[in-house]
Amino acid sequence: MAILVLGGAGYIGSHTVYELIAAGRDVVVADNLLTGFKAAVHPKARFYQLDIRERGALDTLFQAEKIEGVIHFAASSQVGESMSNPLKYYDNNLYGTMVLLQAMVAHGVDKIVFSSTAATYGEPERVPILETDKTVPTNCYGQTKLAMEHMMSWVSKAHGLKYVALRYFNACGAHPSGAIGEAHNPETHLIPLILQVPGGKREKISIFGDDYATHDGTCIRDYIHVSDLAQAHILALDYLLKGGDNNVFNLGNGVGFTVKEVIDVARKVTGHSIPAEICPRRAGDPAQLVASSEKARTVLGWKPQYDDLETIVATAWAWHKDHPNGYEG
Ligand code: UDP
Repeated sequence: MAILVLGGAGYIGSHTVYELIAAGRDVVVADNLLTGFKAAVHPKARFYQLDIRERGALDTLFQAEKIEGVIHFAASSQVGESMSNPLKYYDNNLYGTMVLLQAMVAHGVDKIVFSSTAATYGEPERVPILETDKTVPTNCYGQTKLAMEHMMSWVSKAHGLKYVALRYFNACGAHPSGAIGEAHNPETHLIPLILQVPGGKREKISIFGDDYATHDGTCIRDYIHVSDLAQAHILALDYLLKGGDNNVFNLGNGVGFTVKEVIDVARKVTGHSIPAEICPRRAGDPAQLVASSEKARTVLGWKPQYDDLETIVATAWAWHKDHPNGYEG
């Protein structure tokens, strides 16, 4: 039996595929390659280029492969874009998941682990955030992810599907082997954008707002290494395969860093002065997102290996130095 990874050519998906293969699992990857990269797909995974909104393509895959569980990363994930183009998020994230679940129900595949997000919480009532805290998204991306969670829950009641939603905080870093890393086109995420400055691709980094209610006025986020996220997906799938019930877990380190602090860490790691400029706030950004991941540690036995931002940024820098154009040359 194989594990199907949807969006397995993307950043977190490709790292999860590498960890699954390292653990000896049989892996099928499906990706439409609109934002993912074929070069990021592990050579030992069987690859299908398809879009989850194409029911016929999903049917063909489910008929050809014996799938015991699905890990679903295939979604749009940029906060800023979700505010300017919300319908793209409803189409890719919600409609795409709806078609996927229809196909899973039709083919009797009943276990799914999927990417949710800290953005489901919106402006948190307190930090660290617990899974039981209020979910009031401040951006369309978070809203579609929360709606995906709700969709899973109703489908579970009706059809017996079992799901785990993993609410990631800020994924970052690269595979320690240097084989794969973070590449988006266009890039919108803080750490890869910062590293474009010492990489010679950008003159300075923009800081989106310095008037937030935080100790230096810039937004606080909880940065978690992508390989640690990857391990959590495997633990979550095994939890379901062993009969675990529907569940939601935060995945973060439990420590928050401001945008200015992240830039300082990158200055230290790269030895570059990295000029920064204060810019207006980005729409939809909560001031502070920091996870409590106690539940994932207790229930799944998750133990993040990278708890130090300097080491995390160093793995990202190792990848970006060797791949200044990502997977494209
Ligand atoms: N950010 C920034 N400059 C940039 C990109 C991001 O100041 O060029 C900030 C952004 O406003 C947020 C934090 O960095 O507070 C992390 O943003 P990112 O897009 O990496 O992840 P998100 O928190 O949106 O998932």
